[in-house]
Amino acid sequence: MNKLNKRSYFFDNGICFECQQCGVCCTGNPGTIYVDKSELSSIAKFLKIHVADFKEKYLYPFKNSYSIREHPDGRCFFYKDMCKIYSIRPGQCSSYPFWFTNLRSEKKWKSVSKECRGIGQGHLHSKKKILKVVQTTFP
Ligand code: SF4
Repeated sequence: MNKLNKRSYFFDNGICFECQQCGVCCTGNPGTIYVDKSELSSIAKFLKIHVADFKEKYLYPFKNSYSIREHPDGRCFFYKDMCKIYSIRPGQCSSYPFWFTNLRSEKKWKSVSKECRGIGQGHLHSKKKILKVVQTTFP
């Protein structure tokens, strides 16, 4: 972590971000929506269903845990006008857009910024905080 913090990045001065709940990252091209094993029970509890029913109805096996199913058009099963599990959404969702794949270059970040309305809004996320998110969440 210290080694990473010492390096220079295009976001050395931090990045302003606050999710606008526009849904762009919850819709569009199909993809995986990773749910860590540690997140299963809290989301099931929020939905007021048993973990077994949550898995069967909304998830499919992925890597060492599960991914949320999507509609044929790529929309997350839990997205309709807004995220239905926003307050308890998986780490993959809450860490967006601070993903390694998005931050690996300034060019890539600029293209993500054109889609995500939250970038440039809200409070400043420090380089240290961004690097912590990158290192502790999937993907
Ligand atoms: S694209 Fe950005 S602003 Fe829109 S829901 Fe996703 S994180 Fe929030």
